[in-house]
Amino acid sequence: MCGIVAYVGPKDAAPILLEGLQRLEYRGYDSAGVVVSNKGLKVRKVKGRVADLAAAVPARFKGTLGIGHTRWATHGAPSDVNAHPHLSSDGRIAVVHNGIIENADELRAKLEADGVVFSSETDTEVLAHLIARTAGETDSLEEAVRAALKRVVGTYGIAVVDAGRPGEVVVARNGSPIVLGIGEKEMFAASDVAALVRYTRQVVHLEDGELAVLKADGFRTFAGDARPTAKEPLTVDWDAGHYDTGGYEHYLLKEISEQPDTVARTLRGRLDDRFHIAHLGGLNMDARETRSFRRVKIIGCGSAYYSGQIGAQLIEELARIPADAEPASEFRYRGPVVEPDTLYVAISQSGETYDTLAAVQELKRKGGRVLGIVNTVGSAIARECDGGLYLHAGPEVSVASTKAFTSTAVAFALLALHLGRVRDLSPAEGRRICQGLRALPGQIKEILALEPQIKELAHKYAGSPSMMFVGRVRGYPVAREGAQKLKEISYVHAEAYPASELKHGPLALIGPEMPTVAIVPDDELLDKNLTTLGEIRARGGRVLMIGHRAADPRLADDHVVVPKNETELDPILLTIPLQLFAYHAAVALGRDVDKPRNLAKSVTVE
Ligand code: GLU
Repeated sequence: MCGIVAYVGPKDAAPILLEGLQRLEYRGYDSAGVVVSNKGLKVRKVKGRVADLAAAVPARFKGTLGIGHTRWATHGAPSDVNAHPHLSSDGRIAVVHNGIIENADELRAKLEADGVVFSSETDTEVLAHLIARTAGETDSLEEAVRAALKRVVGTYGIAVVDAGRPGEVVVARNGSPIVLGIGEKEMFAASDVAALVRYTRQVVHLEDGELAVLKADGFRTFAGDARPTAKEPLTVDWDAGHYDTGGYEHYLLKEISEQPDTVARTLRGRLDDRFHIAHLGGLNMDARETRSFRRVKIIGCGSAYYSGQIGAQLIEELARIPADAEPASEFRYRGPVVEPDTLYVAISQSGETYDTLAAVQELKRKGGRVLGIVNTVGSAIARECDGGLYLHAGPEVSVASTKAFTSTAVAFALLALHLGRVRDLSPAEGRRICQGLRALPGQIKEILALEPQIKELAHKYAGSPSMMFVGRVRGYPVAREGAQKLKEISYVHAEAYPASELKHGPLALIGPEMPTVAIVPDDELLDKNLTTLGEIRARGGRVLMIGHRAADPRLADDHVVVPKNETELDPILLTIPLQLFAYHAAVALGRDVDKPRNLAKSVTVE
């Protein structure tokens, strides 16, 4: 789940590996290690931070080829010994691995019966021994790796070096990403482009089942059955600057603040003011096909799922097609009925979310048409889908999603406009939505200017043990995302409910110690929402209202007033103050804002 970096070329490998690992730190990890090859393998690995590893690497740690790893322990506690790389008993083979070897116990028992002595508790170590057993006999390292992987059940991204073959690194992927980086007479590989962008923009993504051999002068890729595969390099438009905090205290605040630009980038070149339509060439569907769908099913995990709920509402309202969203993690296991006239839409910031990828693969097996709304160009989900939209929001580093959430909702507005305009949405209505979309970046700027007020409110409410978030219809996914943001980064318990459901149960929780954040847009449900606020207040509950007008002090203790857009697009704006609220609550409580406990940025395991 965490980080892999590999290098082969003319330069000293260790500094490149350490810098790459540093770029992957944002994903969360518990230990780190490197190995370089120079007349034998030199290894350093430690429990702790990449900085601790860097301190443990001696000045004379020379070698122009090496691999590095940040570990997120699944088998065996975080410790120096369990940190990767893992070596074969003869010290010839070193392996780093992301993922889980499911049959590790069985393989370990067999190897131990053959006299192999293990030095760690990890599942990964079996790989080092398995590869070593054939490496001496095979003509190439890749053959030995391939033979070992045939015996393995599970998910992996791996990088392997062999002391006996000092000019090459072998990498392979199955369910855990590996990206190759092409340099000038040097080659890189990593589990995430973040580790590569300082050195090259030319990348190649490996598919599941693929293996690659990297040498200083180039690379070769192979399918699982050893047939060579031809891969076209992609140019990534992210650079190292995207991975700096840019003067902000946290990535999260930087990413929240970037949203006027990132939303503008999601919209760029896609709005047509002549016909009031959206140009979405990446969908790969003509108008007739686009008209043929009778239903839309959206899948995603976590915040992506909530943005999908906003998307479903937009599609129903603008295109009048029945649409709903569902967690991809649930969808894939419930034997979904896949219909030919349903358009499926999968959402993932990283494009590597394992549950979403597996759901897309299940849909494809059953003949479903799947579009991807993805931020990372060339990622696994983007490649698997029939078409889609890229967010162009730039890399999102902080674990909690903000700008990708907002851009996904904007992408859905574009998709809804597109689906609507090939159906019954009139040009005048199309124009109204286009104008609304164009106004979003400026209005987000206005909301960001409210930060001092929102910070004060976050400090006021951050001490509560628990908070309720409510919203009706369009406001409900906003409430869910607001609660999600608060719990993931501040660890304050938060529940989201449709405001209409409050009196069917959760109203019992309301009292002075359980404040409510209420999403109250100026729409046709305003009066109903105000009635709900009255009910909360009557039970002694405190209310923070997020909406378009100042609150009646009898109905709310506090309010944040955001600029009004078109009713359908308002949810996009109403989420922004909740991001700032969660951020400042987390800072006030002294949390590790960018790397909340127990969470990883892209969840590439089940
Ligand atoms: N399963 C391996 C371990 O526990 C790899 C974990 C990872 O993905 O970092 O060591």
